[in-house]
Amino acid sequence: MSSDDGVIGTNDDAASCKRYAVDKGYWNDPYISYMVPKSSSRKAPEISRGYYARVTSIQLLVEKFLRLTECRCQIVNLGAGFDTMYWRLSNAGLVPKGFVEVDFEQVTSRKCHFIKSKQQLLEALSGEDSEIMMNKAELHSANYHLVSANLRNIGSFEAKLSASGIDRSLPTLFLSECVLVYIEADSTEKLIKWIADSFPTAFFINYEQVNMADAFGHVMIENLKARDCVLSGASACTSLTTQMNRFLNNGWSGGDALDMSAVYRYLPQEDLQRIERLELLDERELLEQLLSHYCLVWAYKDTSNLGLHAISL
Ligand code: SAM
Repeated sequence: MSSDDGVIGTNDDAASCKRYAVDKGYWNDPYISYMVPKSSSRKAPEISRGYYARVTSIQLLVEKFLRLTECRCQIVNLGAGFDTMYWRLSNAGLVPKGFVEVDFEQVTSRKCHFIKSKQQLLEALSGEDSEIMMNKAELHSANYHLVSANLRNIGSFEAKLSASGIDRSLPTLFLSECVLVYIEADSTEKLIKWIADSFPTAFFINYEQVNMADAFGHVMIENLKARDCVLSGASACTSLTTQMNRFLNNGWSGGDALDMSAVYRYLPQEDLQRIERLELLDERELLEQLLSHYCLVWAYKDTSNLGLHAISL
């Protein structure tokens, strides 16, 4: 058993919570059921609302980036797990020139298997003239690429991006959804800096735990440790300021960092009212506590003056 097995297992938790929330009607995802079985256990309403805020806010920022660049751009999903974003964007007619998903081989091999065996997933990859190349753990199509790499190893990550045809001169969005917190602080800083140094026009979206120092955060860390999973980067990024500075000190020009209770209030009101009617929430306080322990951070570097600073919720 490697020390990353616990971290790899966090993907199953995230995927199962997302599947549960989708089945309850929090958001629409016609693809998740092809990768994630129906959840056997009930999840508390505040968990599903938290996932709703996470998925919806990230989707809003990603769509703004795609519209601003008119899809003449690339997306790199770091620690992508079983995320279905490529298929959801493709359904909405928003396909970037390149979309690369990176994760450990244990995760990408399972995802590769789902894609190979589900016509509905495969269809979205096969445009005109597109040949799909795949082996056990990696897949390359015209736009979509799934590759295995340890994000601590920049050399291997760089090689996998090149093998996916990534063009460093194109505007490129990097997404890390609940990933950096599992990587040691110095490796994360190297990664963030390497991206800023290598991509002149780039946008980064990071979602993860924050404000972990109080009692509630302590309980959460302990729970994860119990599953052999240490939040390696959590001690380094305890506040919204340290979250933002990690980018500003490593080559990024600007951005913003909000905790998820602030993000929640920015989400489209009509849809919020709809999802708040789905399940009764006994204690609003629990939701507030949960939201205040997660954050959404975005950063830009805009050498081409595209106006990336204007992207926000
Ligand atoms: N981003 C997906 C989502 O939000 O649904 C998955 C999140 S899951 C909590 C964390 C993911 O990050 C796992 O799939 C894990 O394997 C991946 N991960 C963590 N550390 C990594 C590393 N050093 N290299 C590659 N992937 C990593």
